[in-house]
Amino acid sequence: MKFTIHGVRGSVPTPKDGFLKYGGNTSCYEIETDHHQLFCDAGTGFQSAELERNTKDTFVFFTHFHHDHIQGFPFNAGIFRPGKKIVLSSGLLEASKVNSTMQNYFSGSYFPVDVFDILGHLTVEEFEEAKNLLNGDVSIDCIKLQHPGGAVGYSFVSHNKKIVLLLDNEFCLSQKDVLLKFCENADLLIWDGMFTQEELKDKKGWGHSSIEQAVDFTEQSSVKRTLICHHAPNRSDQDIDKLRLKISSQSVDFGFENMSLII
Ligand SMILES: [Zn+2]
Ligand SMILES: [Zn+2]
Repeated sequence: MKFTIHGVRGSVPTPKDGFLKYGGNTSCYEIETDHHQLFCDAGTGFQSAELERNTKDTFVFFTHFHHDHIQGFPFNAGIFRPGKKIVLSSGLLEASKVNSTMQNYFSGSYFPVDVFDILGHLTVEEFEEAKNLLNGDVSIDCIKLQHPGGAVGYSFVSHNKKIVLLLDNEFCLSQKDVLLKFCENADLLIWDGMFTQEELKDKKGWGHSSIEQAVDFTEQSSVKRTLICHHAPNRSDQDIDKLRLKISSQSVDFGFENMSLII
């Protein structure tokens, strides 16, 4: 699988000097398999993804529907070009709710055109049906996370390689065993490192984990490599560089926009 980060910032874009080394666009992660182009979320990073719609079907799996995870969707010209279909789905909500949430957000008072009205090749599928449509090319599973309004994490497995994304999750001890199992033998884990442990003291209930928890969790797991993502919008490149120096684990690092890995 080819894994690419198109957007790694949490909450709101940060397109300014001092924030571009790690990146200013919000959540969007691409997993390209033999026959499919999959995205986890379509934050503002989605606008720069090159859609392979002539050769591969495109699927977008949403972790949840906070602005920073959906806002880039209609700004990728590739969704309007002729080509193969685009499937939207989420393990969090049933298809009718995904459809109404996205349609409301990208129409009426919020958006100049009704995007879903003009995209005949776009379908919204139940999560189980979306998984079936992938025809065994990649198997996907999801897990409920701790986040206001709800969110899910995903695992993607193909050719015995496994990528797990646990974005927008407030890690708590009661989740530990089930998340360790979900991440078992993962080659790559994407972790919500919005806060430091110190910042987390005042941010209980905000729905995010810490950088230190990424290290603790990885050390107790069988995960081979963890990338800390969903960087706080006030976290500059310099801040992240400093935090990187403090990370003791060889298996944990920070993700950055345009990072690409073959898993
Ligand atoms: Zn978020
Ligand atoms: Zn969120």
